[in-house]
Order: sequence, then structure tokens, then C-alpha cells
Amino acid sequence: MAELKTLTSHLDWLEAQYDEMVANLAYLANINSGSYNIVGLERIAAELSHLFGGLGGQVHRVALEPTVRIGDDGEPRVCEFGPLLNVYKHPSAPLRVLLVGHMDTVFGTEHAFQRVERVSPTQLKGPGVADLKGGLLVMLKALECLERSPWAGRLGWEVVLNPDEELGSPGSAAHLRAAAGRNHLGLVYEPAMANGALAAARKGSGNFTAVVRGRAAHAGREHHLGRNALRAAADFLIAVDELNARRSGVTVNPGFIRGGGPVNVVPDRAVVRFNIRLSDPVDEAWVLERLAAINQVINARDGITLALHGDFGRKPKVLDAAHRRLFDWVRRCGRTLGLNITWRDTGGCCDGNNLSAAGLPNIDTMGVIGGGLHSVDEYVELPSLIERSRLSALLLLGLASGRCDGAAFKGEAP
Ligand SMILES: [Zn+2]
Repeated sequence: MAELKTLTSHLDWLEAQYDEMVANLAYLANINSGSYNIVGLERIAAELSHLFGGLGGQVHRVALEPTVRIGDDGEPRVCEFGPLLNVYKHPSAPLRVLLVGHMDTVFGTEHAFQRVERVSPTQLKGPGVADLKGGLLVMLKALECLERSPWAGRLGWEVVLNPDEELGSPGSAAHLRAAAGRNHLGLVYEPAMANGALAAARKGSGNFTAVVRGRAAHAGREHHLGRNALRAAADFLIAVDELNARRSGVTVNPGFIRGGGPVNVVPDRAVVRFNIRLSDPVDEAWVLERLAAINQVINARDGITLALHGDFGRKPKVLDAAHRRLFDWVRRCGRTLGLNITWRDTGGCCDGNNLSAAGLPNIDTMGVIGGGLHSVDEYVELPSLIERSRLSALLLLGLASGRCDGAAFKGEAP
């Protein structure tokens, strides 16, 4: 512990970075980068290439393969993504850290929330200021601090900035998995909780879409010939919702339904979307079995077909021994800086789930402190830009200087 203290003088220059960080954050948050805004994501990627390029590593812009998504009308649609940024330095160092953050936000170009506003001397409100643009600057400054230190080169690092996290990382998942395999521990820059606590275990999550088809008919003349897709979709939705409270840690949320048209026509199509969360990986099989059974019942109806799309894109993040050692290390770094770092489990998901599923122990709330995420009240506590940069930088310096035995974190491949 005392040895960690000797590293803190290398963090002092961070204090002077505050104004620049606030200005850069406002600038980045004022550029719309909703997950579907490819032009905006290209712009953010260009700005970040420039900023991260200053670290002297290799910068690569990676085009992601489009995927197919079921539209609200039940038809498949090609989903394009913005670019992914990959930056790395010292790739042959014996210990390597992966740093992950996303460039996209939940606020598309049509959303009312577009600009930042300084609501108090210490708070900035704006789209993505906490989730996750503030975290990108924390990551950048921590790496800068490492590269300025006498131990630069002793620690390899790789940065992955993806454009599709708010969609569940469908386009970048394979890249995250590959990067997890090249590194020994991971830091993800999602915001910390409003009280500064970090996320520990996380639930797994699956998104599903059911497309129900029936047969259209005149509601007056030939009602008997119609097969009502809306009714079948409603029965399906109720059956799925009734999976709630059947198994500990498993929740189901039907969140969208659309179908039908004029009321004098028997509706021939309906779409239902729902999300499932679970804590234990074995619950996946339980859920899928139940869904298959419900599906079979609906499909057995005359003239009705139901096609179920989707999967569990994010596995539960379970805290194993390697994760706990990493948390312990963060807590020690925090204590050295006068911070009492705590953590708690959450039902939310992020790329930390993906890294963990790929066998990489990681802490996924290394970003700023803020709140109101995914709402027009999103804000960041500005002093946390410095506080959390210092925390990340000390963590990296501790690993690079050998104050902490990095080998202790090396997770076993799953
Ligand atoms: Zn996020």
C-alpha cells in the first residue's frame, strides 16, 4: 500500500487537465451519435481517432458487418453500423489491458435532447455526457498518464470503441470477443452509480421478437374466414409475461406490440418484442424451453403462424475469483487516493458481460459519476472526470510498475 502511494506524484498533472476535459466533453456530446446515426458516429470516430492518436499507438478504423434485424412491421431489415475504433500500443508486453467504451448514445437525431447545458459549476447535462462520452475522456487521460510515466512500455494496452453498445453490441460482439482473448484484464468505461459505486455482478439479457401471422378477411362479410393475428399475439404476450415470478432472478418484460389496422379487417399480422433478464447462466435453457412450448401452442392454432427471433446476446456476469481480485485491486487504488470504492450487483447489462463471457475478468464502471442515464436528465458530475482518471491511471501505473502482480488477474479461458 505504501508503495502505491509513491506513484501518486505521477498523477498530479491530471488536475491541470480539467478545463480541457470539460471542453472536449461538451464538444463530443454536442455531436449526435445515436446508434443509427452513421454520419454522426463517423464524426465522433474521427474526433476520437485524433485524440487517441496522440497516445502514439496504432489506430485502426474497422468497418462492422451489417446484421439483419426484424422491423416493427415484422419484415427483416439490414442494420448498418458506424465504424469501430481499435487503438493499441506495446502489444508484446507481458501484461496487457483492454479498455472498452462505446461511442453511440440512445438519443437519435429525432430526439429532443441534443445539446449540453452547464446546470451548475460542477454538473453538465447533455446526451451521452455520462453514458459514455465522459468515460472516453477518463480512459484517454489515464492512458496519457501511463504513457508519460517512467513505466510506459511495461504495460500493453488495447482500446476498443464500439458504435453499437446501446443496441446490445450486435455488430461489435465478435471484435470484443477477439480483443478479450488478446488481453489479461479489462476496464470498461460505463458510468459509475450516482453515489460513485461500481457495478459487480450483472444479469444476462436476451431480446426477442415474435412475428405472428394470421389471415385477413372482411370483418362483416367473412369474419369466419379471418384468423386474427392480434388475438394470437396477445395470448402469446400474456403467456410470456406469466413466466415472471416462476424462477428466482428471471424477469420477462414484454415491451412492444404492434399489429392490425382498420377495425373492419381481421388483422393478419402482429409483432411483439420482449426482453428477458436472468442471473444464472443455467436459466437460459429453462427460459428457452418455456418459450418453445408457448410457441408450439400458438402455432397449433388453425391459420396462425408465429416465428420467434432473437437470443441471449449477453450472458450473466458472474463474479469469479479473478474478478474479485481485480475489485480488490481497484479498492486498494481507491484507498490510496482517499476514495472508498464500493460496488453492488445490477440487473443492467453492458460490454462487461461480453468480456466476462469471453473469459476476461473486468470492471465495467470505470467511467464518470453521473445519473439520469438514457433520459433527458442525463448529467455528469464534472469533478469525477479527474477523480476517476486518477483512479484508472493509478491502476495502470500499479500494474506497469509491478506494484501489483498482474498475473493474479489472468483469468482462465471459459
Ligand atoms: Zn453505456
